[in-house]
Amino acid sequence: MAQNSSRVAGRHFLQIPGPSPVPDRILRAMDTPIIDHRGPEFARLAKRCLDGVKTIFKTANPVIIYTATGTGAWEAALVNTLSPGDRVLMVETGQFGTLWKKMAEKLGLKPEFITTDWRTGVDPAVIEKALREDKNKEIKAVCVLHNETSTGALSPIADIRKAIDAAGHPALFLVDTISSLASTDYRHDEWGVDVTVGGAQKGLMLPPGMSFNAVSDRALAANKTSTLPKSFFAWDDMLNMNKVGFFPYTPATQMLWGLEQSVQMLHEEGLDNVFARHDRLAEATRRAVRAWGLEIMVRDPKYHSPTITAVMMPEGHDGDAFRSLALETFNISYGASFGPYAGKYFRIGHLGDINDGTLIGALANTEMALSLAGVPHKKGGVQAAMDYLVSVHAGPKRQAAE
Ligand code: PLP
Repeated sequence: MAQNSSRVAGRHFLQIPGPSPVPDRILRAMDTPIIDHRGPEFARLAKRCLDGVKTIFKTANPVIIYTATGTGAWEAALVNTLSPGDRVLMVETGQFGTLWKKMAEKLGLKPEFITTDWRTGVDPAVIEKALREDKNKEIKAVCVLHNETSTGALSPIADIRKAIDAAGHPALFLVDTISSLASTDYRHDEWGVDVTVGGAQKGLMLPPGMSFNAVSDRALAANKTSTLPKSFFAWDDMLNMNKVGFFPYTPATQMLWGLEQSVQMLHEEGLDNVFARHDRLAEATRRAVRAWGLEIMVRDPKYHSPTITAVMMPEGHDGDAFRSLALETFNISYGASFGPYAGKYFRIGHLGDINDGTLIGALANTEMALSLAGVPHKKGGVQAAMDYLVSVHAGPKRQAAE
């Protein structure tokens, strides 16, 4: 048994599905003297951020930047478009789908909640059916999580848009991209989303504390008649001040310095390359899990998340005990489990500023921790992941040489 020690050597493996590790370049950009938030230098910075972030949401419309975590942007999306008693269609994809529904209730909305067993994404056909049944078109908004962080389920937003259109329903479409934005393809305008909710601390590689609402013209029109109370989150004040590069209150200046870098870094790598990297690392992780003989929480591969893989624990083994042992021994953090599945799984985050080597290190720690914890599994998960990564990298090079 090792002696008690107050120092842990080496870099921590932060494999939670956000906050994700913040690159040194972003930390350095934020490590700068405070400037006047009503001065010209700030206005230039804010303009660069307000314009730059649109390219990440893929919208020509404004994106509102809040000094709040993702939960704030959830609230902003609801209070700016809806009125007390409005019916909203929501889906129980997992913990976050449930929390958004609870928020809607607290705000005086009437959620219609499509339940699931937490092991799937959103089936567009289910949305279409619910909307067709709403003969009087009373549902005012459809609220969906692009990526359910608590389970690792990605839902097909473009197809859900088509389902809403197929039902001929006028409901607004509100989408949470907190754990998918800047990690997988997302197109606010092209996919006809009315409000996209985003967060800073995952694909954007920033610290927590900033969140976003991308808005459509329909959402802006709904804002004019929406009567839910709003003050801090009101879009109109923000949009007016943003036009000249300012905010209605003291904005998080250091976060904006970071956001500017984040947008630049994503474009330097190329958004499509960022998405391909996430897909590659996610597939490598799933291959490791399958080689270990363990089960991926989300059953149908078509819903598998590019940013998070939730791994079911075999019967009689507790996910939280496993996470504690892995942290103490190998200095790695995984995401926790929630709700009806508390203790029954752990989540490997593979998003943000992460590369092949980091992932392999994390998977090696995981394989060692599984052995140490006595969790029944087969060896060779790390090897399977490495083989996959090599095959992906070898593919294009071979083609280029031919
Ligand atoms: N929605 C999703 C999909 C999330 O993953 C999270 C947080 O992880 C939230 C909403 C809430 O965001 P926050 O914790 O930043 O308030």
